Amino acid sequence: MPNNHLTIAIDGPVASGKTVVGKEVSKILKIRFLDTGIMYRALSVAAINETISPYDEIELSKVAKTIVVEFDSTNNLAKSIKVNGYDVTSSLRNPEVNKLVSTISKIPEIREILVTNQRELSKHHSIIMVGRDIGTNVLKSASHKFYLEASPDIRAQRRFSELNSSSGITLDQVLKDIKHRDTLDSTRSHAPLKKASDATLINTDYLNIEQTVAIILKSIKCR
Ligand code: C5P
Repeated sequence: MPNNHLTIAIDGPVASGKTVVGKEVSKILKIRFLDTGIMYRALSVAAINETISPYDEIELSKVAKTIVVEFDSTNNLAKSIKVNGYDVTSSLRNPEVNKLVSTISKIPEIREILVTNQRELSKHHSIIMVGRDIGTNVLKSASHKFYLEASPDIRAQRRFSELNSSSGITLDQVLKDIKHRDTLDSTRSHAPLKKASDATLINTDYLNIEQTVAIILKSIKCR
């Protein structure tokens, strides 16, 4: 593997800022960015569309194997994600998907299939991957690892301000959803949300995006 092959892992709970920060770092370093949550979400969309039970591991595993992420060569971001040959990109953030995704992502067989796909995507390209188990599992020997955290109230406020006012969702509902997903993600037996022992911890409660990006870039350049 060439010396300039960068693998950067950013993990953290719901709405900790991983995606927005990771995208910014990818723009500056001109390397690919993958939010691995979209794969678990894409499978959840397919489960809803095709009325597959979130407990039907066999059917879900078949569908998980069909997931294809396509990157945009101009901005290095994932431009689309397909399942069973159809594009599910526009449905990934639907509220029904939020409700289902942590149940589906608990299934070890599903995780194995998606992790294999994620590792494959990191083989030939430098990449920033964000998720829950990147530093602890997907890219255990990543060149750089970060773990972002922030208090539930602050994360709920950030997520709420991103929502369209017509969504009808209250701040309290957002907070409940965040806490529920945090609990499911951090207590599951297989690859739970956890800081890797060699990851740099960044608490973003009082940091804005630029400040968080600056800390990450400084740490990457210092090594
Ligand atoms: O990051 P995002 O909120 O989009 O992720 C959706 C869900 O996908 C998470 O709540 C978690 O259950 C699952 N996920 C995971 N492992 C990852 C990325 C996401 O289990 N690496």
